[in-house]
Amino acid sequence: MQKKDHYVIIGNGPAGNRASEIFRENDKNARVTIISDEGFPFYYRHKLLDFLSGSISDESLQVKKHLDYKKNNIRLRLGQTVTKIDPANRVLFLKHMEKIEYTSLILATGGTRSILPSLAGFEKYFSFMTNYNEALALKPALSGIKKAIVIGGDLISIKFIKMLINMGKDVSFFLCKEGFWPIELTEKMSENIASRMKKEEIKTILDDYPVNIFQTNAGYEIITENGEKIKGDIIFYFMGLKPDIDFIKGSGIDTAEGVLVDEYLKTNYKNIYACGDCAQIYNPEFKDYWISTGWDNATLQGETAALNLLGEHKIIKPVPHKIFEVEGIKVNTSWWKEIQE
Ligand SMILES: Cc1cc2nc3c(=O)[nH]c(=O)nc-3n(C[C@H](O)[C@H](O)[C@H](O)COP(=O)(O)OP(=O)(O)OC[C@H]3O[C@@H](n4cnc5c(N)ncnc54)[C@H](O)[C@@H]3O)c2cc1C
Repeated sequence: MQKKDHYVIIGNGPAGNRASEIFRENDKNARVTIISDEGFPFYYRHKLLDFLSGSISDESLQVKKHLDYKKNNIRLRLGQTVTKIDPANRVLFLKHMEKIEYTSLILATGGTRSILPSLAGFEKYFSFMTNYNEALALKPALSGIKKAIVIGGDLISIKFIKMLINMGKDVSFFLCKEGFWPIELTEKMSENIASRMKKEEIKTILDDYPVNIFQTNAGYEIITENGEKIKGDIIFYFMGLKPDIDFIKGSGIDTAEGVLVDEYLKTNYKNIYACGDCAQIYNPEFKDYWISTGWDNATLQGETAALNLLGEHKIIKPVPHKIFEVEGIKVNTSWWKEIQE
């Protein structure tokens, strides 16, 4: 008997889920498997802040329940980390050394926190907010926090600060230009953000930088380059998300900042595609690679990658009009070279 095709998707975000739906719609017999190192079915990552502040319930975070995967005959393997891919033998390895064979593979591993090398030594003092697990851990602690320090400057940090202010917290904010990667924050934009934050009585530090951090009996103390001392009960760290691809490096799949793919989202292996926040996509018009961010881009890329794997030739285009507005500055997240002020 001929073996069934096995489409394996690493990543259970919008890109991976959309790809799984396309495979199932177009191939009723194939095996479709999603692997995720998170312990929860598909949830709205961008609603995590609402969940944290208590404005929405756990239930409204969910996009899909276990039953939805079952109905579609999609195998969901949660809490399992892929540590290695062997493209020549079409096999991947999980952390517990289980081997999974695939016919075609979709890399949809999204982004992970990026720590500036100069602050890496202080990582143990930082709290993060990029996934459901972190939100769950933070939720009970939040009520006891009076003074928060936020180091960052990405889009999420600014939304997060607004949430803290609405909850009545006192916030000191280190606005770091590097935090917006892959978007370049100009001098004018940082000043614009800083002046708007200051208007809301958020202590915003623009041209000074943490050089030392201590844990004290009362919380944390940051010493800055200019010798200022900033105290807080907790330090939140947001410096953008970088493609989550460390485990792919060295496998033979081409990578740079992200997984390198052509305009059809194909890697250098014909049966391996990458999509969403982990992909670095060639743009024939710019003659350069780009990384897009955002939910809608990831969904569209998941769809395009799966359709192309099934034999179509769709060129990926950025989602139109996908603009984040942050403190009056519009950032086009679908095409990161364009920033409108
Ligand atoms: C707090 C927050 C707020 C946001 N707000 C917005 C917003 O307002 N609007 C917007 O458009 N976007 C927003 N985003 C960004 C948006 O959520 C992402 O762009 C989108 O989720 C990317 O989708 P993806 O499918 O590429 O990857 P992800 O959704 O990141 O999913 C990737 C999955 O792969 C898993 N994974 C990674 N490596 C492995 C491995 N080795 N083995 C197994 N599993 C692995 C990850 O754990 C993760 O579950 C926000 C993100 C965050 C964190």
